[in-house]
Amino acid sequence: MNLILLGPPGSGKGTQGARLAKVLKIPQISTGEILRRALAEKTTLGLEAEKYMKQGALVPDAVIVGVMAERLKAADCRDGYLLDGFPRTVPQAQALGEILGETGRVMVLSLVVPQNELVNRMIHRGRDDDKEEVVRQRLKVYEAETAPLIEYYRKKGILKMVEGTGTVEEITERLLKSLR
Ligand code: AMP
Repeated sequence: MNLILLGPPGSGKGTQGARLAKVLKIPQISTGEILRRALAEKTTLGLEAEKYMKQGALVPDAVIVGVMAERLKAADCRDGYLLDGFPRTVPQAQALGEILGETGRVMVLSLVVPQNELVNRMIHRGRDDDKEEVVRQRLKVYEAETAPLIEYYRKKGILKMVEGTGTVEEITERLLKSLR
């Protein structure tokens, strides 16, 4: 089983992704984490991604798709994986569809969190790209580029909307229930 965790920035994809991956014994693959690690290591990818991340913009599709096509070939992905932060655009979703092929099974869990709570959560998280201006930009980019994926996956009949408010434990429980 392959899972996609969808949701606006600050909706808890990282936190919940880690918890779900542990319970389901599949790797959590986070594009944000991959990019932050690349940046810390000053690799070509990291240096290329930095300018976009700093502005709250998306790294170009071709770059991300290239990274993910490689990552998903790794041995730990053979029995399924949880994607957190990818796909983030319709072209990325189409590219993932091609990587998965006809037989690849996917479920999409979309975390629903009110906008004012998102900004609050992010400002308190204290990451480099969590300054209020950048946070607002990331939310804008989410609405324009990523929110259309909700319809995209709804039409494919593989989308579940899950309430992303409450305690961390409650949200995990809700996500797991939606898979049953
Ligand atoms: P995240 O940790 O998922 O919030 O991602 C942090 C930043 O990394 C985003 O604001 C983007 O600049 C970049 N990023 C992460 N995933 C993607 C993706 N799938 N496509 C493009 N940019 C991404």
